[in-house]
Amino acid sequence: MRNRTFLDIYEKIISIPSISAMEERIDQSNKQIIDYLSNLFADIGFRISIQKVPNARNKYNLLAQVGSGEGGLLLAGHSDTVPFDEGRWNSDPFKLKHQDNRLYGLGTCDMKGFFAFIFEAIQTLELDKIKKPLFILATADEETTMAGARFFASQQLIKPEMAIIGEPTELKPIGKHKGHMGQSLEIAGQSGHSSDPEKGVNAIEIMHKAIHSLLELRDNLALNYRDESFTVPQATLNLGHVHGGDAENRICGHCKLNFDLRCVPGLSDEQAVRMIDDALAPVYKQYPNRILRTSMYDSSPAFACKNEHDIVDLAETLTGFSMQNANYATEAPFINMLGCDTLVLGPGSIEQAHQPDEFISLDYVAPTVTLLNKMIHHICY
Ligand SMILES: [Zn+2]
Repeated sequence: MRNRTFLDIYEKIISIPSISAMEERIDQSNKQIIDYLSNLFADIGFRISIQKVPNARNKYNLLAQVGSGEGGLLLAGHSDTVPFDEGRWNSDPFKLKHQDNRLYGLGTCDMKGFFAFIFEAIQTLELDKIKKPLFILATADEETTMAGARFFASQQLIKPEMAIIGEPTELKPIGKHKGHMGQSLEIAGQSGHSSDPEKGVNAIEIMHKAIHSLLELRDNLALNYRDESFTVPQATLNLGHVHGGDAENRICGHCKLNFDLRCVPGLSDEQAVRMIDDALAPVYKQYPNRILRTSMYDSSPAFACKNEHDIVDLAETLTGFSMQNANYATEAPFINMLGCDTLVLGPGSIEQAHQPDEFISLDYVAPTVTLLNKMIHHICY
């Protein structure tokens, strides 16, 4: 018989590396952690389905389900971690260290350990008496592309009433955050000797006009796309990187700009991209075939909890905290696409995420287990 205490499970989860990284050299498959979690939940009666995530390097999502029928509750989290800073950890990131009422290790807080909390919370439940389904989802590549959650949303396999994503929020319900996209503008001019600038096409001059249009768009966003519940209320556009030309005595033949745009809820990614192209349309028209706009990577949409089943009320009552916004992106907009009320709500603090000596305080155990237990009772029984 395998060890099944909270700490045993935590230790095992942390011991299985599941780093995701853009850089292929350090990117790892999450197959092993998915298999471990599958066995863990299968052994107590969950039905398991594992999906290979397309456009990813050997990554998998796990969906575990007990009970059947309409609605129900989804408890979701990501199975991957960020890479760790070698030499900056005071202990082995893959060996759970229990010290000073804390658990140290990579993923203890963000957020593989959440699955140990779920397991603990369902220990006292009579799973055979469940009336609505309880789902557990472990996704892949949240820390890089969110490919796992994107794929899961596209499949539309389940439609729970409510979903909780157990990212570290200090057990405060998070119901909103902005989106994020990176855009690149490349301008092809025609180089030549600077003694006669008319003989070439100066890419920096075209970029100057493009930037002017983008700054007008920025002002338009600030005026018309706002959500006053954010510290920075407007949808923002930031010029982040520009590179062009090679010498002062040459006409600039190539110029590149990278910028980002952060949508507020209500402004979709598609709409934002359309607004960028509309803003640049006069420059496109004046310089045909010289300007190329591309998305640098898949965008993350803004998120706002739907609250059709009063999840906010429930979470506020159970946690004692009112709903808040986050200033980081999560998988919540994708889980939202299942059509459920979605909140980000979990143990641990974002302060300890992505840091050397990542830890979670054991003070979170009792309140988190109680919270999850009550949520499941409220929704599934
Ligand atoms: Zn996370």
